[in-house]
Amino acid sequence: TETLASVDIRSLVEACATTISAHADELTTLDQAIGDADHGYNMKRGFDALLADVDTLAAKPLPDALKAAGTKLVMTVGGASGPLFGTFLMALGKELPADADRATFAAAFGKAVDAVAARGKSEKGQKTMLDVFYPVRDALVSGTSDAEIAALADQAAEATVPLKAIRGRASFLGDRSIGHMDPGSRSSALLVRAVAETLGA
Ligand code: ADP
Ligand code: MG
Ligand code: MG
Repeated sequence: TETLASVDIRSLVEACATTISAHADELTTLDQAIGDADHGYNMKRGFDALLADVDTLAAKPLPDALKAAGTKLVMTVGGASGPLFGTFLMALGKELPADADRATFAAAFGKAVDAVAARGKSEKGQKTMLDVFYPVRDALVSGTSDAEIAALADQAAEATVPLKAIRGRASFLGDRSIGHMDPGSRSSALLVRAVAETLGA
């Protein structure tokens, strides 16, 4: 796509909600190992709420739809992940020009990731969703294809396994957080793949 103005918001919401639903148990199991076993539930609750609102979201221009979706996630997702994914979508909506193309999308995505880092007082390497978001940002900036970005996001989530958690609940475990995949990184990779596959379809 040369411009993102024609993006099918309904398909994006449906694809994201479907993958979160299909992987909710897996996400909860990951969170059971190094958190409080609610990540799948939290994410499903949030994306089911977006799905329930899909008509309203699809009627908006993309930047407004992103802002509304982010606000909805903040309101409906309990836990750390709601405000963080919500901040991401709200910031992306704020930064994205109405006539966004690949390059302006990459720049807006980068600012949205920085907004998550500011909100979470976190940075790359701390075993959080940022460990997926930042490599995806870098790939977007360098013009990597959607299919490659989806694969790279999966690899980035895998790469959180040997990390020690420095932020979020998993950090309470110290060294015992090592050897498990970060749940928020896994959900981020699932969402990146869903979006990449929808845009590429
Ligand atoms: P909670 O930990 O409150 O139960 P979730 O289980 O839904 O919330 O989400 C946990 C995920 O949130 C983690 O796996 C991690 O990816 C992400 N996370 C937690 N704290 C931060 C932070 N400060 N910065 C970035 N991401 C974070
Ligand atoms: Mg949790
Ligand atoms: Mg929780």
